[in-house]
Amino acid sequence: MSFDPHTIRAEFPILGREVHGKPLIYLDSAASAQKPRAVIQAMAGAMEHAYANVHRGIHSLANETTDAYEKARESARRLINAASAQEIVFTKGTTEAINLVASSFGQSLKAGDEIVLTQMEHHANIVPWHFLRERLGVVLRFAPVREDGSLDMEGFRRLLGPKTRMVAASHMSNVLGTINPVSEIVYEAHAAGALVLLDGAQAVVHAKVDVQALDVDFYAYSGHKLYGPTGIGVLYGKAERLAALPPYQGGGEMIGVVTEEAITYADPPHRFEAGTPPILEAIGLGAAIDWLDTLDRDAVAAHEHALYHRVKERLNGANWITEIGTAPGKGAIFSFAMEGAHAHDVAQILDRYGIAVRAGTHCAEPLMRRFGVTASARASFALYNTLEEADAFVEALNRTRTFFA
Ligand code: PLP
Repeated sequence: MSFDPHTIRAEFPILGREVHGKPLIYLDSAASAQKPRAVIQAMAGAMEHAYANVHRGIHSLANETTDAYEKARESARRLINAASAQEIVFTKGTTEAINLVASSFGQSLKAGDEIVLTQMEHHANIVPWHFLRERLGVVLRFAPVREDGSLDMEGFRRLLGPKTRMVAASHMSNVLGTINPVSEIVYEAHAAGALVLLDGAQAVVHAKVDVQALDVDFYAYSGHKLYGPTGIGVLYGKAERLAALPPYQGGGEMIGVVTEEAITYADPPHRFEAGTPPILEAIGLGAAIDWLDTLDRDAVAAHEHALYHRVKERLNGANWITEIGTAPGKGAIFSFAMEGAHAHDVAQILDRYGIAVRAGTHCAEPLMRRFGVTASARASFALYNTLEEADAFVEALNRTRTFFA
C-alpha cells in the first residue's frame, strides 16, 4: 500500500478552506486533529438512520444502535490489540480515563504510598494524582527529563521502591515528541511491584500500540486526536485490573441490582460507563479507527517523520530558533522558541499566513519549568500535511523573524 497525502487531504473537507485569505495550513493536530468524511458521515448516518439509546431497548433501533456502539468498542480494542473488548471502557477522553484510574485505584492507597510520574507529563496525567496527594497524603515523584527531552531512565529507576504503587507516564510527549521506552518502564515498574498506566493520547495516533506485548495495566487515549470526534476516549485495563477497581461514577447501566438498602455493580466495562454514554461519538471513533485501518500505518509514520525532518533541514540550523526536544526517534512534533519573540506573537503572525500552530505551556507546566521557559510554539504534523506545507511553514517563520530581528 502506498500513501499519498494529497489524496488523503481530499477526504478532509475542512482542509479546503482559507484563513485570512490564505489556504489553511493546519499544524495543530497534536491538540486536535481534523476529521475525514468517513467519520462525519458515520455520525450523521447514525443520526439519520439508526439512533436510539443503547443497551436498554427491545425495539429495533435500540438494538441497531447498541450493535453499532459495541462494534466501535471492538474497533477500539483492535487499535491497541487488547485481548478482549471487555477491557475497553469508553470515557470522555484521556483526561477522564486517567481520572477514573486515579479515583478508583486511589481508594486502595494510603498516606506515604508513592506514584511515579515524569517531568514531561500533560496536566491530565499530573492533576488527578495531585488530588490523591491532597486527599490522602500520597507522595508524587517525577522522573527527570534530560536536556534533549529524553527520559532519564537512571533517574526513573532510582525513584522506584517498595512504596511505589503506580507508575503513570506518557507514551509520547505532546511537547517534546519524545517516545518513551515504555516496555522498559513497564518491566521496571512491575519488577518494583507497581502497576503502570500509559497516557497514549499522542502515541496511539502515530505508532502501532500493542497493550498485550507491552504488558501494561492501563492505557488511555482520546478520539479527537485520532481523527475521530471529541467527547470520546478509551481506558484500556487488563481484565483483572478492571475487575479489581471500584466504580467511578454511579447511575444507570453500571449496576447489577439496586434496592433501597444495597447495590451491586455490573462487570467491566459497563461498571465504569454510568448513564447514557457518548453513543454517536463512539460510533465516530469506531469509524475513525476503521478508516485508519485502510491506510498503511508505517507509510503514514514515515510521511510524518519526513515532514518534521523537512522543517529541520530547511531551517538548516538557524540560530534564531531553539527546538525543545530533540530526542532520537522522536515523533513529528516541533516545539520551538524564536529568539526575541514571545510564542503567542509567533503563533499570531503565523496565523496571518494561514498557518495554525499552538503556543503556550501545552498543559505541561512542570516541563516548561524544567526547560526554563514560560511558553513555546508548537507545530505538530499529521498525515494530511504535505512537504509543500512544511516548506511554507519555514518560509513563514523566516518572515515572522523579521518582525523581531
Ligand atoms: N495527554 C497528552 C499527552 C495529551 O497530549 C493530551 C491532550 O493534549 C491529553 C493527555 C489530554 O487529552 P484530552 O484533552 O483529550 O482528554
